[in-house]
Formats: sequence, C-alpha cells, structure tokens
Amino acid sequence: MLESPIPRWDLAQVAATLVRLFHLEGDLTPLPGERDQTLRLDSPVGGFVVRIANRAEDLAVLDMQQAVLEHIACRPGGPPVPEARRTADGRRVAEVEGHGVVVSTLLAGEMLREAPGAVGVFDLGVAMGRLQRSLQGFFHPAAGRTLLWDARNVAQLEPMLSAIEDPELRHKVANVIDQVGSEVVPILNSLPAQVIHNDFNPENLLVSGSTLSGVVDFGDMVHGPRVMDVAVAASYLIAGAADPIAVIGDLCRGVQTRVRLAAEELEVLPNLVAARLCQSIAIGAWRATLHPENAEYILGDAEPAREALGSLMALDRSELLDRISIAAGVPVARHPAPTAKVLATRRRVLAPGLFLSHAPPLHLVSGDGVWLRDAAGRRYLDAYNNVVHVGHGHPLIAQTLASQTLRLNTNTRYLTDEVVAYATRLTALLPDGLDVCYFTNSGSEANDLAWRIARTVTGNDGVVVTEYAYHGITAAVMAMSPEELRPDQWEPWVTTVPPPGDHDAAAVFDGLSRVPAALIFDTIFSSDGIFDPPGEYLDASAAAIREAGGLYIADEVQAGLGRVGSRMWGFATGSAIPDIVTLGKPIGNGHPIGAVVTTAEIARRFADEAYFFSTFGGNTVSAAVGTAVIDITEAEGLPERAERVGNYLRAAIRQMRGPVVAVRGAGLFIGVEVEQAATAEAIVEGMRKRGVLVGTTGPSGNVVKIRPPMVFEERHADVLVQALQEALDDPAGGHSSSGSRSPRR
Ligand code: PMP
Repeated sequence: MLESPIPRWDLAQVAATLVRLFHLEGDLTPLPGERDQTLRLDSPVGGFVVRIANRAEDLAVLDMQQAVLEHIACRPGGPPVPEARRTADGRRVAEVEGHGVVVSTLLAGEMLREAPGAVGVFDLGVAMGRLQRSLQGFFHPAAGRTLLWDARNVAQLEPMLSAIEDPELRHKVANVIDQVGSEVVPILNSLPAQVIHNDFNPENLLVSGSTLSGVVDFGDMVHGPRVMDVAVAASYLIAGAADPIAVIGDLCRGVQTRVRLAAEELEVLPNLVAARLCQSIAIGAWRATLHPENAEYILGDAEPAREALGSLMALDRSELLDRISIAAGVPVARHPAPTAKVLATRRRVLAPGLFLSHAPPLHLVSGDGVWLRDAAGRRYLDAYNNVVHVGHGHPLIAQTLASQTLRLNTNTRYLTDEVVAYATRLTALLPDGLDVCYFTNSGSEANDLAWRIARTVTGNDGVVVTEYAYHGITAAVMAMSPEELRPDQWEPWVTTVPPPGDHDAAAVFDGLSRVPAALIFDTIFSSDGIFDPPGEYLDASAAAIREAGGLYIADEVQAGLGRVGSRMWGFATGSAIPDIVTLGKPIGNGHPIGAVVTTAEIARRFADEAYFFSTFGGNTVSAAVGTAVIDITEAEGLPERAERVGNYLRAAIRQMRGPVVAVRGAGLFIGVEVEQAATAEAIVEGMRKRGVLVGTTGPSGNVVKIRPPMVFEERHADVLVQALQEALDDPAGGHSSSGSRSPRR
C-alpha cells in the first residue's frame, strides 16, 4: 500500500461528497498526508478532519479506525480522541470510487511536534497507559492485518535496505533487523497483546498549553504486543534527548500508572525501539525513491531516527535495562555474574562460617516448583529445600507479595484485616486450645519468645532438649542447640534427653539438675537423625515435663504444616497437646515469618509480666503471604500428597541395594541412614552430580536427609530413586574434594 499514490481529489468533489453522504458543508483546507488525502472542514456545526483514503486501503481497516474512536468514547479514563462521524445513513465508512471516506471531529490544539516539551514524557506515558487500558477489550477483525510498521515483520524491510544510501547506516540497520528477527520476534508473540495505536508520535499528539488535548491517527493500529506501542513512542521521544535512558524510563513509569508492564516486556523494549528506528529509516529511504516529489515530507523522520539509533546503540545494554527497570518499577532479571567472581566476592563480603553446601558450590539463578536452575543452565531436582513449602516461584505467593506490598504494609500496632485473618487461619489448623498467636521473623525468634514465655509463666529456668537438637541462633536458643555446641559451651540450665529410638526419654527427667521451664522438641528430630516420634514417646515426655513444672513446646519449624503428612503436625502422633507450638521456615514459603501459638491463658499470664512487640513480625505483607501458603497447602492437598509420595519414596528406598541401615521419617521428611558419614557425603555429592539435591544430618552425619518442596510427586520420586541408586552403587564417584564440614540445616 505504501507504493500506491496519494488520492488527489479536487475540493469541489470533496465538498460534494461531504454534503451528499455526511450532510456536512463548509470550508475545506488541505492537510499534509503520507498516503491518504486529508482535509480540514470548518462547518457551522464544528471542525472536522476528512480523510479520502488511499485506494489500496482496506475498507475494513477504515471501519476499525472509526470503531476504535467510538469504543474509546464510551470507556471512562481514556485519553481525548476525535469523535467518529457516521454517514447520514449510519455507516462508519463511505465508499466513493474505490476510496473509503471517513470523517471525525477536529480536536483543538497543536501538534506536540510543533511544541516540543509542552507535555512531559511521564505524562505522555500516562496518556499511552490510558489509551492502552481503554483499548483492552477492543476487537475488530481487521486488527489482525499484516503491517510493515510492525516489529514482527522486520524481515520484510530487507529488500528496502538498498535504498539507504550511507553504507555504514545500511549495515547498522541490517544488523538490527537480523538480531530483532532472530532473537526478539520469536518472543513477541508470547507477550501480552491487544489492539494498539502503534504510532504514538509527536505528530499524532495534540497539545493545548501544557495539556494533551488529543491522540489522533489510528492508521497504524494493529493487534500486537502492547510493549511495541511503548517502543514506537520511545523511538520518537529519544530523538535529540541528552539522556535517552531517562526518557524511556519516564515513559515506562507513566505507562505503568495505568498498565502493568511485565519484566519480559521491558527486556525486549530496547530492541523494539531500535527496530522502530530502523523501520523509519528503511521505509523512509525506500518511499523517498518511489515518490521523489514527496521526499521531503517522507524523509522528515529519517534524520532524527538515524541520530536516535546511533545514540541507542552506543548505550550499555545492561545499564539500559537496569535503569529502565528501576524507572518503571519492574524488576528485570539480571544476567548471572560469573560463578568464580561471585564466590570470590562472597568470601570477602559475607562472614566466614557461613558454609556453602556442596563442592563446588551451586550457583543458583532460578527455581520453579521442585526444580532449581544454576548459572550454567543446569536443572536440579530439589529434594532438600523445605522452606519453599508450596514450591519454588509459586505465582500466588509472588502475586500476593507484590499486590499486598503495593496496597499496604504496616505493623501490628494498627488494625488490619490481614494479620487477623492469618492468625485465624493458622490457629484453625491447630488443636483447640492453641488459639493465640505471636508473630516473629524466624524460627529462632519464635523459639526465643517461646522460651521467654515458658520462663515467665513457670518461674523456672531450666530447659530439656534432645541430645543433638537444633533450635536456632539467638543466644538463649543457641544454648539449647547442642548440635552446634562444643562441650565447653554447654550451659548448666540445659539438660538433654535421647531422641526417640530405643531409649526412654521420660526416665531422664528424674535427674534434672534445674527445675525446668520447658521441654522443647523438634517434632521430627531432624538434627538428631530424623525420627518420626511414637505417640508414647511424646506423651510420656509431655507428662514428665508437666510433672516437673515445665511447659511442653513443640518446635514445628521443620515438621509443621503437613510436611509429615495428613496429620499436619509432628506432635500429632501423641495425644498430648503442646502448651506452645513454634513455627517458621515453610509457613512463609521463603518469606521470613515465624510464629508462636499458645493458649489464651498462657498468653494472658505472659502479657501481665512481659513486653512483646515485633516491628516486622505479623506485618501486613507477611500475613498475606502466610495466608496464601495455607490457601495453597489446602487447595493443592499438599499434606495428603506428602504422605502418599513419602510412603512411596520410603518403600522404594527400602528396596534398594547398598549400605542402607535404616529408612526413617514421615511424609516428605525422610532420613536414610547409612553406615558412615563419608558414605552419606559421597551420596549427597553423587546425587548432585546426577542433578538431585539432598543433604545429610544426624550426630554422626551418616543420615541422608530428603526434604523436598511439598509439590514433589511420584515422578520426581522416581528421578530421585534412580539417582540415589546410582550414587549408592558408585559411592567413590561422589567424593567431595573440599573436605569441609557441610551445613546441616
Ligand atoms: N527450629 C528447628 C527445628 C530448625 O530446624 C530451625 C532451622 N533449621 C530453627 C528452629 C531456626 O529457624 P530459623 O533458621 O528460621 O531461625
């Protein structure tokens, strides 16, 4: 169509047509046009723009252009656009001698091109956002047309390149077209798409003073990736700008006020801007050769486009993306830094003693469900990370976090729905009596608070824990974590009892040196080597601690929220109901949430004596995330699944060849005891080599710990079993070279 000549009716013919078909008359003034004949009509009922369309213009496309004006006019919040004027007999488009004729009202104002800077770039972005928003839901069959002014069709520019005279520019344009065609176009069709204006340039924007008074010329409208619209606008606005990145950023920020751009859209934006500039250059050069008489007008855009392309290509791409991402408020994934560099920097800037799992360590960049991906693009089956209870990258968690952050995040000193709703949901999952919540930021803090409550309420100061327990990092709680203590660090107020097994824990209570305030059990006895506690063990221990004047605290940081199966809580094998339950890790699915749940009576007694408030504990965002974790856990039936898949996995492991001493645990918390720590370590590294992540635990480090996200299924278990069998068959194959102690959390 770009090759077809502009119609050139004389004014009398135009006037006669307007009277006959539109019942309009007045003074006509020609306006400039690229492919259609355009005129201004000043009539007694107001000003109009009359378009005699190029013969090659599809009437359906004209119909669409009028329909969109009607659509926007009845949407609230849209930008000012002309009003479509129908023919006297109600058609949007009149047809005269093969030409479509359309009429719309003339808007006040001058072209932004004539008043540069009259409206700021941010405000133009807002206008584009309003336009895109009002076009959501607009459809017309003609919107599916193929247009040269569409980045998805850059390949069609190739035959035009020879019209670009400057060889250097021709080469640059060819490169961009190539790159966009091969790298960007394949992505474009998966991005959010709708009907877009596609020509948001300063000639099509009208301003009155400092307000935008109109968006006109819907002639390039098409159904396509909406980010293309942003790119088109940017390609004009960066021309001559001292800081093109700031311009693109401002534009995006404005758009973002009405339309949420996604990271994937921003990532292709710079390429799309370059593509648009190349379209202007190539199409302009080619048309100028076809219509030398109109060359000046046609080439009007080419020079600024050439300059803008030069300045865009000179920019550093990652800086460009970073800055646009910050300005637009859309985080864009960064390319991972080289692993060796991250490792070296980490050694400098993170405290020593923060162990890295595996040797060489894993450099992770993303996760999805039960899968993790490293910087080299290798995929690992995650059978170790329980913190992401409902799986890596769960969209409901991400969306809850983002939308609550946008809406409100504050603390428990204000009345908010979210924390009340969360406490209600959480307590509903626990036995009656455990009705009152405190929120903290970690499992350690939850245990620390539980300990303070126990001491305050009982007046005692001793504690009973298992022999190789771990309960966290505060000073008090670390003292109750013999797993991490040398004998000279043991405190006299801490007494240990054996974990479930062949021993009778309750018997040990007889010889306590201090009157205990509490007994704390990690109810899956993870660091002790993973034991699913028999009910009698828990009940006898609970009875003994109560007899001795202390409280029974169930640390459910590891076992809780269905990890051990449909019984929901580790303590639930027993009939004794804990006085206090502490929670952490999985309840936030990676978001730092801890909780202490106790009885109303204990909480009241603590409140009489002591102070508790946590700035972040129970904040609105955390509460919303915590609720989402419960929602997903219930909706996806994760506790039942953990029980089913866990039983399947344990049964399969019990069938294996090799040095397996015992298979223990409950639900998706499984311990595979082997004879020696070295064997366990070799299995962990051997499995890592085969793309499956597990860990070790236990006093001797000879228990392989399997504790995947709860969305683990039988098919994942099969992958794990195969890797475990291969690692068992070839223990030497997995020997780690580091010899460093591996972390056990
Ligand atoms: N209790 C148990 C049983 C744990 O396993 C842990 C952490 N591994 C904690 C408490 C401490 O939780 P956090 O690291 O969130 O402070």
